[in-house]
Amino acid sequence: MTGDPPSTRPPPSDPSAPHGVVLQGIAGSPGVAVGPALVVGDTKTAYTRRHIQAVQVDAEIQRLTLAVTEAKRHVREVSARLPPGPLETNAILDAYLTMIGDPMLIERVEKRIREEKKCAEWAVAQACDEIAKLFLPAEPGERDAYIAERRHDIEFVCDRLLRELTGDTKLIVPRLDQPMVVIARDLSPADTAAMVREPVIAFITEIGTRTSHTAIMARALEIPAVVGAADALSTIRTGDTVIVDGLRGQVVVNPSDITIADARGRGARHLAFARGLLTARNQPCVTRDGEAISLKANVELPAEAILALDHGAEGIGLYRTEFIYIDRTTMPTEDEQYELYRAVVEAVAPRPVTLRTFDIGGDKFASSFQLPSEMNPALGLRAVRLALSRPDVFLTQLRAMIRASAHGDLRVMIPMVASVQELREVRTLFDRALHEVDAAGHPRLKHIPLGIMIEVPSAVVMADVLAREAEFFSIGTNDLIQYTLAIDRGNRSMAPLASPFHPAILRMIRQVVRAAAEHGVPTALCGAMASDPLAAVLLVGLGVRELSMEAAAIPEIKEAVRRVSTVDCERAAEAALKLDTAEAVEELIAGTFAPGLFDLLTGNDDDAPYEQGGRPTLPDA
Ligand code: PEP
Ligand code: MG
Repeated sequence: MTGDPPSTRPPPSDPSAPHGVVLQGIAGSPGVAVGPALVVGDTKTAYTRRHIQAVQVDAEIQRLTLAVTEAKRHVREVSARLPPGPLETNAILDAYLTMIGDPMLIERVEKRIREEKKCAEWAVAQACDEIAKLFLPAEPGERDAYIAERRHDIEFVCDRLLRELTGDTKLIVPRLDQPMVVIARDLSPADTAAMVREPVIAFITEIGTRTSHTAIMARALEIPAVVGAADALSTIRTGDTVIVDGLRGQVVVNPSDITIADARGRGARHLAFARGLLTARNQPCVTRDGEAISLKANVELPAEAILALDHGAEGIGLYRTEFIYIDRTTMPTEDEQYELYRAVVEAVAPRPVTLRTFDIGGDKFASSFQLPSEMNPALGLRAVRLALSRPDVFLTQLRAMIRASAHGDLRVMIPMVASVQELREVRTLFDRALHEVDAAGHPRLKHIPLGIMIEVPSAVVMADVLAREAEFFSIGTNDLIQYTLAIDRGNRSMAPLASPFHPAILRMIRQVVRAAAEHGVPTALCGAMASDPLAAVLLVGLGVRELSMEAAAIPEIKEAVRRVSTVDCERAAEAALKLDTAEAVEELIAGTFAPGLFDLLTGNDDDAPYEQGGRPTLPDA
């Protein structure tokens, strides 16, 4: 790849160059936002549960007292860093201060330390959890904004105390009352999801790539984001004005008025362009020569199902259920899960919904699982392996999914299957779950297809064998690229090498499509590759007929499909399969299709170098 290393300043001779300090990162989520910065830290707090000796009780309580003092000091510091705003900010921070020292909390924590001999971290987490439960909605589904905010406050306080106790004392996002750009080293999917209820207008992370979960979440939430912006934390201060250009993958710090006006103009043009595409959402997704390509949505949060339909999705191709498990310390119950799945299935019916069983582990951390710490979590206890090692948790999820099938068209998909043996073990548990649901007298669909993700190289090699037992495939290129090319999907500096145009990836996709076709197994593709217009037309050429992506990308991919013919796509794919490098493939595909898709590739940013998705500018494409 010919990608430039991150630059800090544009060449001074370029008259259109932005004025201000420029950080080059990766375009994580499209759109342009301008606003004041809020620099925050990493928000995942890990701690070890320890039992203490009776003689250690006093020392543990002293640790707690110190943590309370430090947490209060920290909140005052956050208050000082926030730009002067409406009074509500201070009221929120005052509420945090009161809650941190609240006797109701402290007494509960001390009791656990004294009587149950638990370490301070464990005692804090349990006491906060107990208090948070007091704020659970009385009825499932009840959404009381006040209750939700109190829970959020308790979570904030709990996290703050844990950070003081563990020494992991960076800032976390306080509740905001004015639109701000959040800057962090990294944000977990849970942090990103939590921002839905905050006036966060954009975010910037120092690490991550287009396929890391933060970028995926940002696109789902339609928040502009630049990821992999090295030096963001050391360059940007809270209160600085920043431009987040999610089209070019660029951040401008303290820009001039002209640069701000220019960015706002491009942001507005992009919005108008995206809205224009949206008006065509009910057009059929067919190529110029009449081949239908089914476009579905990937969703993480139940609320996104409606967003998916608004963007013209023909169903949900991937519902990542792990978000039900994260950001909590207890397991979700069968009934709780059933209600969530049912809501999605009903919202989308009669269109189909593919529910993926939990893919926890790797970069998807869930405290409720208490995972062992591993040297290399991406190659450890993750996804189906974790599910098979915790059959109680897995069966609970399967039963909830099976029950939800009574309300629409539902399929169940298993992540990270690496051998047919795993699929067989899953099938046994699935049959048991079906039986248990029947025995409990719950209605369900007569037949629920059970399919697998193809995202591990061994599954590609064994696709013909797996096709005899799986009822559908969905190719997960985010992980398939990671595991095939041996590149951590979250590693920004390796991102230019993790190309979906790599010939090895194209051959693998072709192999899976062919094996599946021979056995009559429908095959979709749900990695981020599907949401790149150039990659999407290449996939059509490789024989993929169903693509699933974040909802926001559906209108532009539909437009891309409608502008090309299958014959041209197939011819280009055949030629691409004969090439030997990712660069050569990308140049070929760009040379063939970019002129006709230029507006889609740049988000209608006329001056943008052609580099959506973090790919390098191509010569004369
Ligand atoms: C993938 O790996 O391509 C995929 C769609 O799954 P996830 O991004 O959730 O790992
Ligand atoms: Mg995956």
